[in-house]
Amino acid sequence: MPGGRAAPGARPSAGGETRGDGRRAPGGAKPKGPGLQKKQNEYIKQDFTRPQRKGKHKKKKEEQTGTTPEMITVGDFIIVRDLADKLNKSSGEIMKKLMELGTMVTINQEVDYDTVEILCSLMEVKVEHELSDEQKLFEEIVDDVASLKPRFPIVTVMGHVDHGKTSLLDRIRRTNVVSGEAGGITQHIGAYQVNVGGGRITFIDTPGHEAFTAMRARGANLTDIVVLVVAADDGVMPQTVEAINHIKAANVPFLVALNKMDKPDVNPDKIRQQLTEYGIVDEEWGGDTMFVAVSAKQGTGIEELLERVLLLAEMNELKANPDRPAEGVVIEGKLDKGRGPVATVLVQKGTLNVGDSVICGCNWARVRAMTDYLGQKVEAAPPSMPVEITGWSDVPEAGEKVHACDEKVAKELVSLRLNERKLEEQKKNSRVSLDEFFQQMKDAEVKELNLIIKGDVQGSVEALAQSLLRLSTAAVKVSIIHSAVGAITETDVMLASASNAIIIGFNVRPDVKARKYAEDEAIDVRLYRVIYEAIDDVKKAMTGLLDPVYKEKYIGRAEVRMTFKVPNIGTIGGSYVIEGKMQRNAEIRVLRDGVIIYEGKLSSLKRFKDDAAEVMENFECGIGIKDFNDIKEGDLIEAYTLEEIPREL
Ligand code: GDP
Repeated sequence: MPGGRAAPGARPSAGGETRGDGRRAPGGAKPKGPGLQKKQNEYIKQDFTRPQRKGKHKKKKEEQTGTTPEMITVGDFIIVRDLADKLNKSSGEIMKKLMELGTMVTINQEVDYDTVEILCSLMEVKVEHELSDEQKLFEEIVDDVASLKPRFPIVTVMGHVDHGKTSLLDRIRRTNVVSGEAGGITQHIGAYQVNVGGGRITFIDTPGHEAFTAMRARGANLTDIVVLVVAADDGVMPQTVEAINHIKAANVPFLVALNKMDKPDVNPDKIRQQLTEYGIVDEEWGGDTMFVAVSAKQGTGIEELLERVLLLAEMNELKANPDRPAEGVVIEGKLDKGRGPVATVLVQKGTLNVGDSVICGCNWARVRAMTDYLGQKVEAAPPSMPVEITGWSDVPEAGEKVHACDEKVAKELVSLRLNERKLEEQKKNSRVSLDEFFQQMKDAEVKELNLIIKGDVQGSVEALAQSLLRLSTAAVKVSIIHSAVGAITETDVMLASASNAIIIGFNVRPDVKARKYAEDEAIDVRLYRVIYEAIDDVKKAMTGLLDPVYKEKYIGRAEVRMTFKVPNIGTIGGSYVIEGKMQRNAEIRVLRDGVIIYEGKLSSLKRFKDDAAEVMENFECGIGIKDFNDIKEGDLIEAYTLEEIPREL
């Protein structure tokens, strides 16, 4: 639940912030007003010989701040208010201490265990980690070093498009899988294994760095070794460089396969030279990267490549404990017409046996039968072996972790996780949106409308904040929990999510991350160009009269990478579609540093020399804007359409 959690180590936001509710921005010095002076004078005049009666306020404070306990127990996360209770301190005190540690949180936000541990060490309070229900049911096994045994490597092939990744995978499969195996015809299950000498290698069937990094993003570091394919008749290309960066980010050992060596016009030394620019130097040139010349087409060099992969694996001492309940990752999941939900699991640790129960996210299965990449039944799958499993309660997703466990535990875990998921959904659905505000207000769900205001200039932010605050009535209070100049960021959405707030943007837009996050968290982000409209909408929402007839539908964004002038036409932005798509007939707005500088329509959209109706993500295009020539490098062009929303009766 990212919404409610404070990012560990979150820092107070940069200066320039105001708070519309009159509260001071954190860290701001409070000027000594006449009131304070009066209080000080009274204090000096006090007669200290007489016992002082404690005021009501003081008493309350004492109730909150009692003796510090010696020890507290905390789970993975705890809400600040609950932490304060446990520590016998006021929430303010805890928030202040956390702020000193560089973590900005509100009373209702969660902090993680690590942060609590640091805080408590400063207060000399011991902390014990309380296990979650899930952890109580199922504890991950930590393998003893002595139990680890060598395992076979798992390999992913990467490289530029058309450099021969698929051909190489096919060639290896054809020449090496079948030899010595009965049956013979390989099945597509997402991975296969080949025998090389006395060893074995597992190849992931999906080449390319996208899948590799998507898996990593889900916490599944499957790949032990990467084969970087570079066509010897071509050279280092953009996706070669991308692959190199992804390999480096993952810190995975790799070797280079110089492919298409059968072609007459190859120049492998040119590639060796080019790769040195990326710190990749052939062993034969005194570096530490193995290079193998191959031809996926003719099959030359393949044996050497495989032997080198095994050698690299040996050098990296890949190990796992085979004698424990299995743990692995789903590499493919699908719904098979005849067999129901099917998933290929690549075992990473332990051995998966027929008869085991496995859990994967909110799914579980009793393993009645397993088949390998040859479609043959297997009884046991040791580390590094891919097997296909049927009998799942639902289709597991690629990248999800799989654990073997007791059937009873599996069922309990599934129901626990499903419950958690339901709670998350409910939380999401109960987020307030301006459209539903009046209904929720009537149902007494909300009596306070929390707003976050972002705008292009200080003046308009303040004006908007003041006007909106004035809308407060006896029944509903408008509270502005944050207002600042600048684009709507992920942190704003995080804040909105944590405090059930609506975000109002005036002449600014959410950045790409913020937009995605807001969508995921179902946060209402309202964007206006006229102050009056914003006020009017909020006013209408408070009286139940809000009836948005048109709603904006976001289509995509392009970034202007260069500009050029075309006589009689005007300035054209040579652009790159960074998200979604560009559409010739869409409404557009031009954003510079998150601020809207122009709204209108396109006058032209071209892909190379041709007119295009739309240009998709990751493609380049030329964009001309009607009656607007001030396009600059770095500008973002956002495309959207206006859709009519049917009114609900
Ligand atoms: P991928 O996009 O990297 O998966 O590349 P493919 O495997 O689809 O190969 C792209 C093209 O290069 C195809 O037309 C292949 O036939 C060709 N190709 C792949 N490997 C070789 C090779 O070793 N020699 C030659 N001459 N052509 C190859």
